[in-house]
Amino acid sequence: MSTVHANYIDGQWNESESGDTFEVRNPANTDEVVGQYQSSTRADVETAIDAAVAAQDEWADTPGPSRGQILKETGNRLAARKDEATETLVREEGKTRSEAAGEVQRAIDIFAYYAEKARDLGGTSKAPSAPGKDLYTKPEPLGTVGLITPWNYPIAIPAWKLAPALATGNTLIIKPASEAPNVTRIVFECLDEARLPDGVANFVTGSGSEVGAPLASNDDIDAVSFTGSTEVGTTVAQTAADDLKRVQCEMGGKNPTVVMPSADIDNAVDIVGVGAFGTTGQSCTACSRAIVHEDVADEFVDAITDYAESLEVGPGLEDPDMGPHVSRSELESTLEYVDVAREDGATVRTGGGEPDGDGYDGFFVEPTVVTDVESEMRIAQEEVFGPVLAVITVGDFEEALAVANDVEYGLSASIVTQDLTEANQFVEDVEAGVAKVNEKTTGLELHVPFGGYKNSSTNTYREQGDAGLDFFTSTKTVYMN
Ligand code: NAD
Repeated sequence: MSTVHANYIDGQWNESESGDTFEVRNPANTDEVVGQYQSSTRADVETAIDAAVAAQDEWADTPGPSRGQILKETGNRLAARKDEATETLVREEGKTRSEAAGEVQRAIDIFAYYAEKARDLGGTSKAPSAPGKDLYTKPEPLGTVGLITPWNYPIAIPAWKLAPALATGNTLIIKPASEAPNVTRIVFECLDEARLPDGVANFVTGSGSEVGAPLASNDDIDAVSFTGSTEVGTTVAQTAADDLKRVQCEMGGKNPTVVMPSADIDNAVDIVGVGAFGTTGQSCTACSRAIVHEDVADEFVDAITDYAESLEVGPGLEDPDMGPHVSRSELESTLEYVDVAREDGATVRTGGGEPDGDGYDGFFVEPTVVTDVESEMRIAQEEVFGPVLAVITVGDFEEALAVANDVEYGLSASIVTQDLTEANQFVEDVEAGVAKVNEKTTGLELHVPFGGYKNSSTNTYREQGDAGLDFFTSTKTVYMN
């Protein structure tokens, strides 16, 4: 029997009034249940919102350094449980052990970073236009915020929303993705042990419609920070905007890496390969399009095919190169996209199916390279969210740039080149919130802003770094005579 986990509302672990739970299963071994969680209702969400609203004034009045101390202690407690959190993340989401350890460490680092930031929340003093006056700005918390998170980084993304929200004096309710709520729950156990006051942060599990949607529509919620698909994020943004709530939605991607003739092909293959197949292609920043100059296209395709075929696919606990998809529906979606690519006239150069053999009791898929792709094909336009690389051949740099920008998304984009003019031009003209030169599209630094252009983001506020604080803060301008 797996453990039944409760919601965390007003400092207490409570079951939902629904009396129902749902199971989380290991995507590498579907017989293994890795926790049961509350199928919460709108009434549970309202209870959590009431608790967060009641706790808000006192938390806002708590000095920044004291709030930071709780965040620091939370990070320390998480660090002490790093191995447990890593293994839990592997079992619920399917990441390899190395990938999961990296993500848990990122969450620990985020708590340490915003713990320090809580001491230094800004505000500026300006010269007044008359003597005897003071003129300054003062950052204030927004109030009570709703956080809605996806399954693909189930500890790092909650951490990068929670920590700045708390550092700036907001209270909150988080709704984690139902595929992977375990590691977010571990963060809440750490917050509880760090003596976060009751009601300040609340954890409510359940469906998007019962738990996520009310966070976007409830009148007592002052802001919503969402990460997930563009389809759901668009609804969340529209609902929140109807009520003039501050809203931030970080959504899908169709990220390109351009490979130019001056590139070292081995280096280009490493950059594209890690970007495309790392985390089983389940990163919003995953490289899903290699846009390759015709002079090096054959060499690149041969090499990336060898690379894909060399990857060991297996259960994350064994720390292979690539773990499974998170769920059957994600696996089926990826396989459908491979079929669509074939129907549209592309060639599946390697992969494209489930691996054969014993030991594959979960949602495994082969690393896949698709060639003969034209930019207008669905495989080149839509987010696949699996380990499928579409290779598009182009004749020159201008065409490469045009193809890179020829999608509705604009999250991360990279180029592999030794030509400084091309590198600068790419950075200047690519329509993406993150532009990289001789780097993979995946991988973020926590102290710089992150977010997308176009349909990858509401593109109002960025996350991470100081930008992460800005979203959760109002600025009051003070004229003191
Ligand atoms: P999803 O949109 O299906 O779900 C995200 C969250 O929204 C989940 O908690 C879900 O339960 C909730 N939800 C579902 N319906 C809702 C509704 N009607 N109202 C409110 N909440 C609702 O996304 P996912 O499958 O969990 O995650 C994968 C997607 O996330 C991909 O598109 C990926 O690109 C994107 N993503 C983006 C970023 C980024 O920073 N840009 C980072 C990670 C993932």
